[in-house]
Amino acid sequence: MNTAASLYIHIPFCAGACDYCDFYSVAANSAGQDEQRLDQYVTAVLADIEDQFSFSGIRQVPTVYIGGGTPSVLGARRVGRLLAGLSSLLSGMDSTPVEFTVEANPESADDDFLQTCRTGGVNRLSLGIQSFYEPSRRAIHRLGNANILDERLALAARYFPGAFSADLISGLPFQTENILLDDIKRLLAFEPSHVSLYSLTVEQDTPLEQNLRQGMVSLPDISEADALWLIGRDALEQAGFPQYEISNFALPEKYCVHNLRYWRMESWLAAGPAASGTIINDETGTGRRLSYAADIDAYLVAPRPAFSRAIVEELDQAVLMRESLLMGFRCGKGPDAVLFQQRFGRGIAECIPRAIAHWQEQGFFENAAAPALAPSRKGMLFLDAFLRDVFFELEKNNH
Ligand code: SF4
Repeated sequence: MNTAASLYIHIPFCAGACDYCDFYSVAANSAGQDEQRLDQYVTAVLADIEDQFSFSGIRQVPTVYIGGGTPSVLGARRVGRLLAGLSSLLSGMDSTPVEFTVEANPESADDDFLQTCRTGGVNRLSLGIQSFYEPSRRAIHRLGNANILDERLALAARYFPGAFSADLISGLPFQTENILLDDIKRLLAFEPSHVSLYSLTVEQDTPLEQNLRQGMVSLPDISEADALWLIGRDALEQAGFPQYEISNFALPEKYCVHNLRYWRMESWLAAGPAASGTIINDETGTGRRLSYAADIDAYLVAPRPAFSRAIVEELDQAVLMRESLLMGFRCGKGPDAVLFQQRFGRGIAECIPRAIAHWQEQGFFENAAAPALAPSRKGMLFLDAFLRDVFFELEKNNH
C-alpha cells in the first residue's frame, strides 16, 4: 500500500474564456458578485482534502500543485486562506512537500497575490503567458496585454527567483517565426527557470473550432505549425533550456517535480470539479482512480465527504501498463524501466519487443540498450506514431 501521493487542487474559475480552451472552468472575478462563491469554494476544497487525507491513509505529500482554471482569480485574501488551511492539513504528514506550485495568469497575479503565495509556502510559480503579440492574443480572446505581462513577469522574477515557469503557445493566428522568436527572447529576459512550449491544438466544440469553421480566424497549416514549434524548441535549447518532456524545457535540475511524478504514474490525490486522482499499488500494478464531475454546483452543495460522489474506476494491470508507457515515453529519459518491472513483473522490452525493434531502426531511441528506453530528439517528433504501435502490440498480447 502506497502512503505517498502528490496533491492536485483544481481552481475552476477564469476571468475570461480563451477560445482554444477545453478545460472545465466557470466565469468569476475576485471581487463583486462572485465573492461568496469563491469563498465557499475555498471552504469546500479544504474540507475535501481533509477528508481525502484521513480516508486514504496517505502520510506523505511530496508535491502540491494548485492549477486551473485560473488560481489567481481567487485573489490574495482567499489564496491566503487556502494556503493556511493546506499548511495546517499538511502539518499532520510525515514530511513536507518538496515542491509547491501555483498557476497564475498575469492579469490577476498582482503583487498581493504573489507575495501571499510566497509567504504561504508556495515555492514555484507557473505563469500563463502564451504570447506577447497583441494580434495573436486578441484572435484567441486571451485576457491581458503585453504591458501587464512585462509587469507581472518582473514580479514573478522578484518573488520566485529561479523558480518560475511560463507557458508559450506556437501556431497561433498571425504568429510568424520572428514573432515566436521575439516572444521567447522577451520571456527569457525575465530569467524563468522553466518554459512550456505548446503547439496550439484545435479541440472539438471550442469557440476556436467554430471560428475556424466560419472563416473568422485562420491558423498556420499543419506543416507550418510544426515548423514553428521546432523553431521554438531549437531557440529554447540554444538558450540553455533542454527539452525534458514533449512540451517542457528547463534549466538543469529545474524540472517540474509534480509533473514528473504524473509522467512516472506515481500516485496523486485530486480535489475539485473535473479533477481526477489516481492511487497506484506498486506491488500489484493496479490502481484506483477517483474523478469528480465537471459541476461546481454539485461540488459546493452536497454533504461531505465530496469524494463519496466521485466516479470510481478500478485500474487493472493492462490499463496501467498502457498509461505508464504513454506517459513515460513523453519524457526525455523514457519510462522508468525498474519501476515498470516492479509493478508489472515484466520488463518493457518483454512487453513491446516488436515496437522497440521497429522504432530502433528508425532512430526513435537515444540508445535502445540502455535500461530506460529514452526517445531521441528526433524520436520525440514521432511519438504519436510510435505510441500507436506500442498500444497495438500491447492489445494483441493481451488477447
Ligand atoms: S485562462 Fe486557462 S483555463 Fe481559463 S479559459 Fe484560458 S486557457 Fe482555459
